[in-house]
Amino acid sequence: MLSTHTLSGRAAYFLDLEEKYGAHNYHPLPVVLEKGDGVFVYDVDGKKYYDFLSGYSAVNQGHCHPLILRSFTEQAYKLTLTSRAFYNNLLGEYEQYITKLFGYDKVLPMNTGVEAVETAIKLARRWGYENKGIEENKAKIVVCAENFHGRTSAVISFSTDPSSYEKFGPYMPGFEVVEYNNLSAIEKAFQDKDVAGILFEPIQGEAGVVVPTEGYLTGIRNLCDEYNVLMMADEIQTGLARTGKMLACDHENVRPDILILGKALSGGTMPVSAVLCDDAIMLNIKPGQHGSTYGGNPVACAVAITSLQVLQDEHMVENAEKMGLLLREELSKLQSPFIKTIRGKGLLNAIVINHHDENAAWNLCLELKENGLLAKPTHGDKIRFAPPLIITREQILDCVQIISQSLKVLE
Ligand code: PLP
Repeated sequence: MLSTHTLSGRAAYFLDLEEKYGAHNYHPLPVVLEKGDGVFVYDVDGKKYYDFLSGYSAVNQGHCHPLILRSFTEQAYKLTLTSRAFYNNLLGEYEQYITKLFGYDKVLPMNTGVEAVETAIKLARRWGYENKGIEENKAKIVVCAENFHGRTSAVISFSTDPSSYEKFGPYMPGFEVVEYNNLSAIEKAFQDKDVAGILFEPIQGEAGVVVPTEGYLTGIRNLCDEYNVLMMADEIQTGLARTGKMLACDHENVRPDILILGKALSGGTMPVSAVLCDDAIMLNIKPGQHGSTYGGNPVACAVAITSLQVLQDEHMVENAEKMGLLLREELSKLQSPFIKTIRGKGLLNAIVINHHDENAAWNLCLELKENGLLAKPTHGDKIRFAPPLIITREQILDCVQIISQSLKVLE
Protein backbone atom coordinates (compact mmCIF):
# COMPACT_ATOMS: atom_id res chain seq x y z
CA MET A 1 0.00 0.00 0.00
CA LEU A 2 1.36 3.37 -0.95
CA SER A 3 0.75 6.19 1.46
CA THR A 4 -1.24 9.21 0.43
CA HIS A 5 0.55 12.35 1.46
CA THR A 6 -1.04 14.98 3.57
CA LEU A 7 -0.91 18.65 2.71
CA SER A 8 -2.22 21.38 4.99
CA GLY A 9 -4.35 24.22 3.70
CA ARG A 10 -1.47 26.62 4.25
CA ALA A 11 0.97 24.45 2.28
CA ALA A 12 -1.62 23.96 -0.47
CA TYR A 13 -1.94 27.72 -0.79
CA PHE A 14 1.77 28.21 -1.56
CA LEU A 15 1.87 25.21 -3.81
CA ASP A 16 -1.09 26.52 -5.81
CA LEU A 17 0.53 29.94 -6.18
CA GLU A 18 3.61 28.40 -7.76
CA GLU A 19 1.49 26.20 -9.95
CA LYS A 20 -0.56 29.12 -11.16
CA TYR A 21 2.06 31.85 -11.58
CA GLY A 22 5.36 30.03 -11.99
CA ALA A 23 6.79 28.22 -14.99
CA HIS A 24 6.35 24.48 -14.72
CA ASN A 25 10.02 23.69 -15.20
CA TYR A 26 10.35 21.68 -11.98
CA HIS A 27 8.41 18.87 -10.35
CA PRO A 28 8.97 19.45 -6.63
CA LEU A 29 8.03 17.15 -3.82
CA PRO A 30 4.85 18.54 -2.21
CA VAL A 31 6.46 20.22 0.79
CA VAL A 32 6.65 23.97 1.39
CA LEU A 33 9.67 25.06 3.40
CA GLU A 34 10.08 28.25 5.34
CA LYS A 35 13.02 27.78 7.66
CA GLY A 36 16.38 26.05 7.70
CA ASP A 37 18.82 25.34 10.52
CA GLY A 38 21.86 23.10 10.12
CA VAL A 39 20.80 19.69 8.81
CA PHE A 40 17.12 20.52 9.29
CA VAL A 41 14.46 22.37 7.33
CA TYR A 42 10.96 23.24 8.55
CA ASP A 43 7.78 23.46 6.54
CA VAL A 44 5.11 26.15 6.78
CA ASP A 45 3.27 24.05 9.36
CA GLY A 46 6.33 23.80 11.57
CA LYS A 47 7.15 20.19 10.73
CA LYS A 48 10.86 19.38 10.90
CA TYR A 49 12.77 17.37 8.30
CA TYR A 50 16.30 16.16 7.72
CA ASP A 51 17.46 17.70 4.45
CA PHE A 52 19.01 14.88 2.40
CA LEU A 53 19.43 16.96 -0.74
CA SER A 54 21.20 20.06 0.67
CA GLY A 55 20.09 22.21 -2.25
CA TYR A 56 21.82 19.81 -4.65
CA SER A 57 24.96 20.11 -2.51
CA ALA A 58 24.90 23.89 -2.22
CA VAL A 59 24.24 23.73 1.50
CA ASN A 60 27.25 21.61 2.50
CA GLN A 61 27.90 23.81 5.54
CA GLY A 62 24.32 23.38 6.79
CA HIS A 63 21.36 25.71 6.47
CA CYS A 64 21.81 29.29 7.63
CA HIS A 65 25.30 28.76 9.00
CA PRO A 66 25.71 31.59 11.52
CA LEU A 67 29.21 32.62 10.41
CA ILE A 68 28.28 32.65 6.73
CA LEU A 69 25.15 34.65 7.52
CA ARG A 70 27.18 37.08 9.54
CA SER A 71 29.58 37.71 6.64
CA PHE A 72 26.61 38.02 4.33
CA THR A 73 24.67 40.55 6.37
CA GLU A 74 27.65 42.58 7.58
CA GLN A 75 28.88 43.02 4.02
CA ALA A 76 25.36 43.65 2.71
CA TYR A 77 25.06 46.67 5.02
CA LYS A 78 28.35 48.09 3.72
CA LEU A 79 28.45 47.52 -0.02
CA THR A 80 26.68 44.98 -2.21
CA LEU A 81 27.69 45.67 -5.79
CA THR A 82 30.28 47.75 -7.57
CA SER A 83 30.26 45.90 -10.88
CA ARG A 84 33.72 45.27 -12.27
CA ALA A 85 33.87 48.79 -13.64
CA PHE A 86 35.56 49.65 -10.33
CA TYR A 87 37.72 47.81 -7.84
CA ASN A 88 36.32 46.73 -4.51
CA ASN A 89 38.13 45.97 -1.28
CA LEU A 90 37.06 42.30 -1.09
CA LEU A 91 37.58 40.84 -4.54
CA GLY A 92 41.37 40.80 -4.39
CA GLU A 93 41.36 39.24 -0.93
CA TYR A 94 38.94 36.58 -2.04
CA GLU A 95 40.98 35.90 -5.16
CA GLN A 96 44.11 35.51 -3.10
CA TYR A 97 42.34 33.26 -0.60
CA ILE A 98 40.79 30.87 -3.08
CA THR A 99 43.77 30.60 -5.43
CA LYS A 100 46.12 29.84 -2.52
CA LEU A 101 43.68 27.31 -1.08
CA PHE A 102 43.39 25.35 -4.32
CA GLY A 103 46.85 26.07 -5.74
CA TYR A 104 46.13 27.97 -8.94
CA ASP A 105 47.52 31.25 -10.29
CA LYS A 106 44.18 32.90 -10.95
CA VAL A 107 40.43 32.75 -10.44
CA LEU A 108 37.58 34.11 -12.54
CA PRO A 109 34.46 34.72 -10.45
CA MET A 110 30.98 34.04 -11.82
CA ASN A 111 27.57 33.37 -10.25
CA THR A 112 25.73 30.20 -11.21
CA GLY A 113 27.39 26.89 -11.89
CA VAL A 114 26.54 26.83 -15.55
CA GLU A 115 28.13 30.25 -16.06
CA ALA A 116 31.35 28.86 -14.66
CA VAL A 117 31.09 25.92 -17.05
CA GLU A 118 30.55 28.33 -19.95
CA THR A 119 33.58 30.30 -18.77
CA ALA A 120 35.70 27.15 -18.67
CA ILE A 121 34.64 26.25 -22.20
CA LYS A 122 35.59 29.72 -23.44
CA LEU A 123 38.94 29.54 -21.64
CA ALA A 124 39.70 26.13 -23.15
CA ARG A 125 38.77 27.25 -26.66
CA ARG A 126 40.83 30.42 -26.33
CA TRP A 127 43.78 28.40 -25.05
CA GLY A 128 43.32 26.03 -27.98
CA TYR A 129 43.72 28.90 -30.44
CA GLU A 130 46.38 30.89 -28.61
CA ASN A 131 48.52 28.11 -27.15
CA LYS A 132 47.83 24.86 -28.93
CA GLY A 133 47.63 26.33 -32.41
CA ILE A 134 44.17 25.04 -33.30
CA GLU A 135 42.74 26.78 -36.36
CA GLU A 136 40.09 29.33 -35.34
CA ASN A 137 36.55 27.97 -34.91
CA LYS A 138 37.78 24.37 -35.02
CA ALA A 139 38.33 23.72 -31.30
CA LYS A 140 36.58 20.73 -29.79
CA ILE A 141 35.74 19.88 -26.20
CA VAL A 142 35.33 16.24 -25.27
CA VAL A 143 32.48 15.58 -22.82
CA CYS A 144 30.96 12.47 -21.24
CA ALA A 145 27.65 10.75 -21.87
CA GLU A 146 25.05 11.23 -19.10
CA ASN A 147 26.76 14.49 -18.13
CA PHE A 148 25.06 17.31 -16.29
CA HIS A 149 26.76 20.69 -16.50
CA GLY A 150 23.75 23.03 -16.46
CA ARG A 151 21.04 24.45 -18.66
CA THR A 152 22.29 27.11 -21.08
CA SER A 153 21.89 26.52 -24.80
CA ALA A 154 25.61 25.83 -25.25
CA VAL A 155 25.72 23.38 -22.37
CA ILE A 156 22.56 21.47 -23.30
CA SER A 157 24.04 21.16 -26.80
CA PHE A 158 26.23 18.35 -25.44
CA SER A 159 23.72 16.81 -23.04
CA THR A 160 22.70 13.22 -23.77
CA ASP A 161 19.45 13.56 -21.81
CA PRO A 162 16.56 14.27 -24.21
CA SER A 163 14.59 16.12 -21.52
CA SER A 164 17.49 18.61 -21.36
CA TYR A 165 18.06 19.18 -25.08
CA GLU A 166 15.01 18.13 -27.10
CA LYS A 167 13.39 20.91 -29.13
CA PHE A 168 15.89 23.47 -27.89
CA GLY A 169 18.07 23.25 -31.00
CA PRO A 170 19.87 24.28 -33.11
CA TYR A 171 22.77 23.11 -31.01
CA MET A 172 26.23 24.56 -30.61
CA PRO A 173 28.88 22.55 -32.44
CA GLY A 174 32.34 21.71 -31.16
CA PHE A 175 31.60 19.01 -28.59
CA GLU A 176 32.32 15.32 -28.80
CA VAL A 177 30.57 12.92 -26.45
CA VAL A 178 32.40 9.83 -25.17
CA GLU A 179 31.26 7.11 -22.80
CA TYR A 180 31.83 7.93 -19.10
CA ASN A 181 34.39 5.86 -17.21
CA ASN A 182 36.02 4.71 -20.45
CA LEU A 183 39.61 5.86 -20.92
CA SER A 184 40.05 4.24 -24.34
CA ALA A 185 37.11 6.29 -25.62
CA ILE A 186 38.88 9.44 -24.42
CA GLU A 187 42.16 8.41 -26.00
CA LYS A 188 40.40 7.75 -29.29
CA ALA A 189 38.78 11.20 -29.18
CA PHE A 190 42.13 12.81 -28.35
CA GLN A 191 43.58 11.60 -31.68
CA ASP A 192 41.86 14.65 -33.14
CA LYS A 193 44.38 17.51 -32.95
CA ASP A 194 41.57 20.02 -32.59
CA VAL A 195 40.63 18.82 -29.11
CA ALA A 196 41.34 21.64 -26.66
CA GLY A 197 39.86 20.19 -23.47
CA ILE A 198 37.91 17.45 -21.77
CA LEU A 199 35.07 18.51 -19.48
CA PHE A 200 33.92 15.91 -16.96
CA GLU A 201 32.39 15.35 -13.52
CA PRO A 202 34.68 13.35 -11.19
CA ILE A 203 31.47 11.65 -9.99
CA GLN A 204 28.34 12.13 -12.10
CA GLY A 205 25.88 13.64 -9.63
CA GLU A 206 22.69 14.22 -11.57
CA ALA A 207 23.11 10.94 -13.43
CA GLY A 208 22.56 9.27 -10.04
CA VAL A 209 25.93 9.48 -8.28
CA VAL A 210 27.86 7.41 -10.78
CA VAL A 211 31.32 6.79 -9.30
CA PRO A 212 33.96 5.94 -11.91
CA THR A 213 36.49 3.15 -11.46
CA GLU A 214 39.53 4.03 -9.36
CA GLY A 215 42.22 5.26 -11.72
CA TYR A 216 39.84 7.03 -14.10
CA LEU A 217 40.86 10.51 -12.96
CA THR A 218 44.55 9.63 -13.08
CA GLY A 219 43.97 8.16 -16.53
CA ILE A 220 42.36 11.38 -17.75
CA ARG A 221 45.26 13.39 -16.30
CA ASN A 222 47.81 11.21 -18.08
CA LEU A 223 45.98 11.35 -21.41
CA CYS A 224 45.65 15.13 -21.13
CA ASP A 225 49.40 15.41 -20.57
CA GLU A 226 50.19 13.05 -23.43
CA TYR A 227 47.92 14.76 -25.97
CA ASN A 228 48.23 18.37 -24.75
CA VAL A 229 44.55 18.66 -23.82
CA LEU A 230 43.16 20.65 -20.89
CA MET A 231 41.66 18.64 -18.05
CA MET A 232 38.52 20.54 -16.99
CA ALA A 233 36.95 19.21 -13.79
CA ASP A 234 33.40 20.26 -13.04
CA GLU A 235 33.46 20.03 -9.23
CA ILE A 236 30.34 22.14 -8.79
CA GLN A 237 28.55 19.26 -7.07
CA THR A 238 31.45 17.02 -6.03
CA GLY A 239 33.77 19.73 -4.70
CA LEU A 240 34.04 21.53 -1.37
CA ALA A 241 34.19 18.54 0.94
CA ARG A 242 31.09 16.80 -0.38
CA THR A 243 32.81 13.51 -1.24
CA GLY A 244 35.07 13.36 1.81
CA LYS A 245 37.93 15.30 0.19
CA MET A 246 38.11 19.01 -0.49
CA LEU A 247 37.84 18.11 -4.20
CA ALA A 248 36.75 14.77 -5.64
CA CYS A 249 39.92 14.89 -7.79
CA ASP A 250 41.91 14.74 -4.52
CA HIS A 251 40.84 11.11 -4.14
CA GLU A 252 43.42 10.36 -6.82
CA ASN A 253 45.70 13.31 -6.07
CA VAL A 254 45.02 14.66 -9.52
CA ARG A 255 45.18 18.37 -10.36
CA PRO A 256 42.92 19.50 -13.20
CA ASP A 257 44.08 22.33 -15.46
CA ILE A 258 40.74 24.06 -15.07
CA LEU A 259 38.79 23.68 -11.84
CA ILE A 260 35.11 24.67 -11.81
CA LEU A 261 33.39 25.37 -8.49
CA GLY A 262 29.94 26.61 -7.52
CA LYS A 263 27.07 25.68 -5.20
CA ALA A 264 28.62 25.35 -1.70
CA LEU A 265 31.01 28.22 -2.43
CA SER A 266 28.34 30.36 -0.80
CA GLY A 267 26.95 27.78 1.65
CA GLY A 268 23.58 28.06 -0.09
CA THR A 269 23.12 31.79 0.43
CA MET A 270 23.51 33.14 -3.12
CA PRO A 271 24.85 32.07 -6.52
CA VAL A 272 28.64 32.12 -6.38
CA SER A 273 30.80 30.16 -8.81
CA ALA A 274 34.44 30.24 -9.83
CA VAL A 275 36.87 29.01 -12.45
CA LEU A 276 40.46 28.45 -11.38
CA CYS A 277 43.46 27.88 -13.62
CA ASP A 278 47.02 29.06 -14.21
CA ASP A 279 48.16 32.16 -16.05
CA ALA A 280 48.96 30.36 -19.31
CA ILE A 281 45.23 29.64 -19.65
CA MET A 282 43.58 32.52 -17.79
CA LEU A 283 45.55 35.42 -19.20
CA ASN A 284 44.40 34.67 -22.74
CA ILE A 285 41.20 36.47 -21.77
CA LYS A 286 41.71 40.23 -21.92
CA PRO A 287 39.60 43.11 -20.57
CA GLY A 288 36.16 43.21 -22.11
CA GLN A 289 36.28 39.66 -23.46
CA HIS A 290 34.31 37.96 -20.68
CA GLY A 291 32.53 38.95 -17.50
CA SER A 292 29.38 39.29 -15.45
CA THR A 293 27.74 42.18 -13.61
CA TYR A 294 27.43 40.30 -10.35
CA GLY A 295 30.54 38.10 -10.65
CA GLY A 296 32.95 38.93 -7.84
CA ASN A 297 30.56 41.26 -6.03
CA PRO A 298 31.57 42.18 -2.46
CA VAL A 299 28.85 40.14 -0.76
CA ALA A 300 29.75 37.07 -2.81
CA CYS A 301 33.44 37.50 -1.96
CA ALA A 302 32.77 37.87 1.76
CA VAL A 303 30.43 34.90 1.79
CA ALA A 304 32.77 32.70 -0.28
CA ILE A 305 35.76 33.29 1.99
CA THR A 306 33.71 32.39 5.06
CA SER A 307 32.08 29.40 3.36
CA LEU A 308 35.52 27.98 2.53
CA GLN A 309 36.83 28.79 5.99
CA VAL A 310 33.92 27.09 7.72
CA LEU A 311 34.46 23.91 5.68
CA GLN A 312 38.01 23.73 7.00
CA ASP A 313 37.52 24.98 10.55
CA GLU A 314 34.64 22.60 11.19
CA HIS A 315 36.46 19.62 9.63
CA MET A 316 33.72 18.90 7.12
CA VAL A 317 36.03 16.91 4.84
CA GLU A 318 36.71 14.43 7.61
CA ASN A 319 33.10 14.34 8.76
CA ALA A 320 31.79 13.77 5.23
CA GLU A 321 34.19 10.86 4.83
CA LYS A 322 33.26 9.26 8.17
CA MET A 323 29.52 9.85 8.01
CA GLY A 324 29.41 8.68 4.40
CA LEU A 325 31.02 5.37 5.34
CA LEU A 326 28.58 5.00 8.24
CA LEU A 327 25.57 5.83 6.07
CA ARG A 328 26.46 3.30 3.38
CA GLU A 329 27.31 0.65 5.97
CA GLU A 330 24.04 1.12 7.87
CA LEU A 331 22.01 1.20 4.65
CA SER A 332 23.51 -2.08 3.51
CA LYS A 333 22.71 -3.63 6.89
CA LEU A 334 19.03 -3.02 6.13
CA GLN A 335 19.29 -5.71 3.42
CA SER A 336 16.21 -4.30 1.82
CA PRO A 337 14.97 -6.15 -1.26
CA PHE A 338 13.92 -2.74 -2.60
CA ILE A 339 17.44 -1.36 -2.67
CA LYS A 340 19.32 -2.64 -5.70
CA THR A 341 22.47 -0.58 -5.22
CA ILE A 342 24.01 1.71 -2.62
CA ARG A 343 26.83 3.85 -3.94
CA GLY A 344 28.68 7.06 -3.33
CA LYS A 345 31.68 8.73 -1.79
CA GLY A 346 31.66 10.80 1.36
CA LEU A 347 28.19 12.29 1.70
CA LEU A 348 27.35 12.17 -2.01
CA ASN A 349 25.35 8.96 -2.14
CA ALA A 350 22.50 7.34 -3.98
CA ILE A 351 20.40 4.24 -3.77
CA VAL A 352 18.92 2.58 -6.81
CA ILE A 353 15.42 1.25 -6.19
CA ASN A 354 14.46 -2.26 -7.13
CA HIS A 355 10.70 -2.36 -7.72
CA HIS A 356 8.23 -3.24 -10.47
CA ASP A 357 6.41 0.07 -10.02
CA GLU A 358 8.20 2.81 -11.97
CA ASN A 359 6.93 5.37 -9.43
CA ALA A 360 8.46 3.50 -6.49
CA ALA A 361 11.32 5.99 -5.93
CA TRP A 362 8.91 8.92 -5.98
CA ASN A 363 6.53 7.13 -3.62
CA LEU A 364 9.37 6.29 -1.28
CA CYS A 365 10.37 9.97 -1.24
CA LEU A 366 6.80 10.91 -0.32
CA GLU A 367 6.90 8.43 2.53
CA LEU A 368 10.32 9.66 3.65
CA LYS A 369 8.83 13.14 3.72
CA GLU A 370 5.94 11.92 5.87
CA ASN A 371 8.52 10.43 8.24
CA GLY A 372 10.66 13.56 8.38
CA LEU A 373 13.36 13.21 5.73
CA LEU A 374 13.54 15.06 2.41
CA ALA A 375 15.15 13.43 -0.62
CA LYS A 376 14.39 13.62 -4.32
CA PRO A 377 14.53 10.95 -7.02
CA THR A 378 16.75 11.48 -10.03
CA HIS A 379 16.30 9.64 -13.34
CA GLY A 380 13.31 7.65 -12.10
CA ASP A 381 14.74 4.94 -9.89
CA LYS A 382 17.61 6.65 -8.08
CA ILE A 383 17.43 8.63 -4.85
CA ARG A 384 20.29 10.87 -3.78
CA PHE A 385 21.24 10.91 -0.11
CA ALA A 386 23.36 14.02 0.38
CA PRO A 387 22.78 15.67 3.77
CA PRO A 388 24.72 18.72 4.96
CA LEU A 389 28.27 17.79 5.94
CA ILE A 390 27.77 18.72 9.59
CA ILE A 391 25.50 15.75 10.19
CA THR A 392 26.36 13.72 13.30
CA ARG A 393 26.58 9.98 13.89
CA GLU A 394 23.35 9.98 15.93
CA GLN A 395 21.56 11.86 13.19
CA ILE A 396 22.78 9.41 10.52
CA LEU A 397 21.50 6.50 12.60
CA ASP A 398 18.19 8.29 13.09
CA CYS A 399 17.94 8.87 9.32
CA VAL A 400 18.65 5.22 8.54
CA GLN A 401 15.80 4.34 10.90
CA ILE A 402 13.52 6.69 8.98
CA ILE A 403 14.63 5.16 5.68
CA SER A 404 14.13 1.64 7.02
CA GLN A 405 10.66 2.51 8.26
CA SER A 406 9.73 4.24 5.00
CA LEU A 407 10.84 1.35 2.79
CA LYS A 408 7.83 -0.58 4.14
CA VAL A 409 5.66 1.54 1.89
CA LEU A 410 7.03 -0.44 -1.06
CA GLU A 411 5.85 -3.79 0.35
N1 PLP B 1 27.61 21.21 -13.03
C1 PLP B 1 27.24 20.26 -12.16
C2 PLP B 1 28.11 19.06 -11.96
C3 PLP B 1 26.02 20.38 -11.47
O1 PLP B 1 25.64 19.42 -10.64
C4 PLP B 1 25.23 21.52 -11.69
C5 PLP B 1 23.92 21.66 -11.00
O2 PLP B 1 23.34 20.77 -10.48
C6 PLP B 1 25.66 22.50 -12.58
C7 PLP B 1 26.86 22.31 -13.23
C8 PLP B 1 24.85 23.73 -12.85
O3 PLP B 1 24.87 24.59 -11.76
P1 PLP B 1 23.77 25.77 -11.67
O4 PLP B 1 22.45 25.11 -11.50
O5 PLP B 1 24.21 26.58 -10.49
O6 PLP B 1 23.86 26.53 -12.96
